[in-house]
Amino acid sequence: MPCDTLVVGGGAAGLMAAIAAVDRGDRVTLLEKNDRLGRKILISGNGRCNLMNTDSDLAHFHDADTGFARRALEAFTVEDTLAFFHDLGIDTRVEKRGRVFPASNQATSLVRLLEDRAQRTGVRIVYSADASDLVKSEGYSVTTADGQTFDADRVIMTTGGTSAPSIGGSDDGIRLVCALGHRSTSFYPGLVPLETERSTLHKLQGVRAMVSAEALVDGKVVKQDEWEILFRYYGLSGLIILNLSEAVAPFTEGGNVSIRINFFPGMDADTLEEKLRGRWNRHPHRSAAFSFTGLLPDKIPPVLLPLLNIPSDRPAAGITQEDGRRIAEGLTAWDVRVLDTRPFAEAEVMVGGIVTDDIDPRSLESRISPGLYLAGEMLNVHADLGGFNFQWAWSSGWIAGQGA
Ligand SMILES: Cc1cc2nc3c(=O)[nH]c(=O)nc-3n(C[C@H](O)[C@H](O)[C@H](O)COP(=O)(O)OP(=O)(O)OC[C@H]3O[C@@H](n4cnc5c(N)ncnc54)[C@H](O)[C@@H]3O)c2cc1C
Repeated sequence: MPCDTLVVGGGAAGLMAAIAAVDRGDRVTLLEKNDRLGRKILISGNGRCNLMNTDSDLAHFHDADTGFARRALEAFTVEDTLAFFHDLGIDTRVEKRGRVFPASNQATSLVRLLEDRAQRTGVRIVYSADASDLVKSEGYSVTTADGQTFDADRVIMTTGGTSAPSIGGSDDGIRLVCALGHRSTSFYPGLVPLETERSTLHKLQGVRAMVSAEALVDGKVVKQDEWEILFRYYGLSGLIILNLSEAVAPFTEGGNVSIRINFFPGMDADTLEEKLRGRWNRHPHRSAAFSFTGLLPDKIPPVLLPLLNIPSDRPAAGITQEDGRRIAEGLTAWDVRVLDTRPFAEAEVMVGGIVTDDIDPRSLESRISPGLYLAGEMLNVHADLGGFNFQWAWSSGWIAGQGA
């Protein structure tokens, strides 16, 4: 069947690109390696899909400081995205920090309605079509692993990144476009838990707390946030760590990455010391660990205080001026050395990808191979936790589809 535009990869960016291209009147074929579309959408947000964020601040998007992502995000905005999904039939609910979820609380709603919209408007979808070769001649030919060949005037590559390999995450598309002359950066797991020195906090396995934290590379703060932390046997996880991880992922090998945790968000050591001193004076009979009950999750003080050389059972009355200072400083700036990220299997995104200098930011067309368009996570653009990565996929997919 002849087609004008071939879209390779039926995830968020590919579905959006196919819909945008068919809306422009193209005959569109969409190839998807899996036997169903949008598998990452289905597992996103714990099955609820945090599909976008109401905050349109470009600072949430990371494109190696090239400004590349701005064009697409300003051309298909947060408002456009909301209007698109409302029109599709997805009612939305906004949760803390502007995170937008479908009112159904089901990621399946999105995939079903996007697939229906694509099919109803004439996109031909080919499932279990694993693109293994991409050749430029007059137009483009894509050959799949089972030997089928698809020809088109234009091709939009939306094969995503290498996170979640068990459901299709791969560098397939990156290799295919590099064979046409594009360049890729190295890539790293992002929005991922972090492995840390095991000697310290591993005893807190399973404990959650609201904290603020800074990510440091070579002693310099590169990102900070306030959100929930989750202690794991191998290190640190939770929303705050996933969000900080993208900023340190490329630097973990050198070993100069650390996370500085403040267990009392909004307080500095002086304020905390004064507060604790008041509690110890009021309840001098309580043990050092018990004196934190009502302030911190109960499991935290018995683990942290000994690490500050304060026996957990020391009565509050026996906490000296110097001890108090050490506790306040320790609990507002607890440094944990990061050894590595967890693997791609546990990452939400890939940090890195196809170098964007070779792509026109207005249309997402390749400057190296005209008629080739790229969108979504395979490009060297990723974003903060909170729906921003899907926003990039929707916006870039739309622009590539329109551009093609
Ligand atoms: C566990 C998890 C939770 C997440 N939660 C959120 C969230 O709540 N909010 C958010 O904004 N982001 C979230 N993300 C990130 C988000 O899923 C991605 O940023 C987004 O899916 C990227 O879209 P994409 O279309 O570029 O790539 P993908 O969605 O990965 O789509 C790429 C598609 O291409 C297909 N493909 C790959 N190779 C080939 C090939 N050779 N031939 C044919 N097809 C191929 C793949 O099977 C896939 O269907 C989450 C990611 C994970 C892993």
